[in-house]
Amino acid sequence: QQLATLEDHQSVATIQALQPVVGAGLLAPLVQGGEARYVNLDYAASAPALASVAEYLNEILPYYASVHRGAGYSSQISTSVYENSRHIVRDFVNARPDDTVIFTRNTTDALNLLARCLPAQGEVLYLDIEHHANLLPWQHVPHRSVLAGESIAETIQTLEQEFSLGGVSLLAITGASNVTGEVLPIAELTSLAHRHGARIVVDAAQLAPHRAIDVSGWEVDYLAFSGHKLYAPFGSGVLVGRADWLDTGVPLLFGGGAVKEVRLDTVSWAEGPARHEGGSPNVLGAATLAKAAEVLSGLNQAAWQRHEQDLRESLVRGLEQIPGVSIHRLFKDSDSYPNSGSIGVVNFSVSGYDSGFVAAYLSAEFAIGVRDGRFCAHPLLRRLGLPTGSLRASFGLGSQGEDAQRLIDGVRKLVEHGP
Ligand code: PLP
Repeated sequence: QQLATLEDHQSVATIQALQPVVGAGLLAPLVQGGEARYVNLDYAASAPALASVAEYLNEILPYYASVHRGAGYSSQISTSVYENSRHIVRDFVNARPDDTVIFTRNTTDALNLLARCLPAQGEVLYLDIEHHANLLPWQHVPHRSVLAGESIAETIQTLEQEFSLGGVSLLAITGASNVTGEVLPIAELTSLAHRHGARIVVDAAQLAPHRAIDVSGWEVDYLAFSGHKLYAPFGSGVLVGRADWLDTGVPLLFGGGAVKEVRLDTVSWAEGPARHEGGSPNVLGAATLAKAAEVLSGLNQAAWQRHEQDLRESLVRGLEQIPGVSIHRLFKDSDSYPNSGSIGVVNFSVSGYDSGFVAAYLSAEFAIGVRDGRFCAHPLLRRLGLPTGSLRASFGLGSQGEDAQRLIDGVRKLVEHGP
């Protein structure tokens, strides 16, 4: 019954939808039992829109009008869809009533936005495990970086030491690693930052599609995520968090909608989300992101996590039995550390084979889509001893047990028989 709930929300990335992209010829070797199915093991890059999200998009598409700027019927509908999306997102992350919810283009945009709103005093502290989106914006403001340890416990100690030197205003940290899928104990990290008078921003690009987000409960100050990883189309993201820094920071974009009053040579900027949403907003992006958030909130969390966990464990077990395959993890205690664990991501490499080659082989011979390379995390890959990259298989709501098995079969065939 619980897994049926997951199936109800199968993604729209059916083989039919992908055929024009992948090409029928490439899929021919995969006809197994009369059925060819593209195996998407790249949900961590972008999760294809849910069928219910696609339906909703069609429903609202006719009301195509700009928001906040028209009295016409269509404009009123658009405005209400847009603002209602903000409420849905607020509920999805369990924000505090006075938090600001800003629609951005993606996580990268959201974190860059926050980097413009930092107080004059203090440094941003970050680890070397971050996606570039949660590293580069801080390189351009006063900052300090430290290397994560071999365990979460050790990493927390390192952060504690760094905080005790004083002067940190913000800890920027990922909720779940996009490289290995390991989850960080956010509430504990938040209380660590707060104890030292700093705030925390969580890059939840990978966490939000897999775990319930609790900004109020965790007491997180800022949190960012992207719609396209949350089963919504590309082009929308969110920054949510405390209003004070956001209301005094330099607006992300200078333009219409972001202002209270403009004179020929001066401007008085708006406060609230409008300040950072200059220009005509991506109404459909915000609305579909919110729709996806609503669908995810309605899932049985425990069943959803168990489903993903089962897939991940069976993939790890299968890959571990193949000679020359190594699984890469960040922390030795992530399976046992409180409030840690992993989302449905497995990072691995095949000895003697370039990761790009393995990914191309799996695609051509087995119609499997995995990600290869350095995952926009160059410092981390370097430290993991993988300077040329590795492979990442990632699961999502449309994933099935046979997907893990097909990947295991594909890698085994390569190792045993060569390309
Ligand atoms: N942070 C993490 C952990 C990610 O995995 C990604 C995307 O892969 C990003 C940030 C950037 O997301 P976007 O490209 O949607 O801005």
